[in-house]
Amino acid sequence: MAELVFFSGTMDCGKSTLALQMGHNHSARGRIGLIFTKFDRMGESVLSSRLGLSMTAIEVTDDLDFWEHIVGSLTRGLRVDYLICDEAQFYRPEQIDQLARIVDELDIDVHAFGITADFRTQLFPGSKRLIELADRVQVLQVEALCWCGRKATHNARIIGGVMVVEGEQVVVGDTAAATTGLVEYEVLCRRHYMRRMNSHSARAAARDADILPFDLDICPVPPTA
Ligand SMILES: [Zn+2]
Repeated sequence: MAELVFFSGTMDCGKSTLALQMGHNHSARGRIGLIFTKFDRMGESVLSSRLGLSMTAIEVTDDLDFWEHIVGSLTRGLRVDYLICDEAQFYRPEQIDQLARIVDELDIDVHAFGITADFRTQLFPGSKRLIELADRVQVLQVEALCWCGRKATHNARIIGGVMVVEGEQVVVGDTAAATTGLVEYEVLCRRHYMRRMNSHSARAAARDADILPFDLDICPVPPTA
């Protein structure tokens, strides 16, 4: 019985590496699949991981119809055993419905990988629909750590070193981007997300106060304006 599985986590949790590993494991067992991604850090039509691995992938545009794409492939005589769908948080909800239909009616496994929530802690539309429809949601238990050493559970958007909580939902950046005015992302624990304290401001506070940066006195919850 095929399954729709959502592997979810924060940024930096090794999702794309796991997606690539899964693709490799399937093909080593003689299974044939298709790999999809959207806004990969290396550009269109490639699935890449921070560890430097990559695979050719199909770019998911807004008008891609997964159902028609897969039925078309099968009609042309191609074999499709499974789909790997990376960056699924960026897919449209309708596209997630198409993936569920592929699982149910074509008996093809779909492994979707994505970030659950955006930099405002709101669910991405694609992730929300996956949580609603998936047979299983597997939360990737990660190595990603906040600067304080706690497990990182939230994605923060940083512009010019300062954490922001308003703006467009999708602005593709990288955790490794240079700081000046560019959009970067940093994973934080909830405590430091709520206190809007990213590593840059923590360092600045530590320099100013000469005390530990996770002291709550210098790390207050910002007033809600
Ligand atoms: Zn923290």
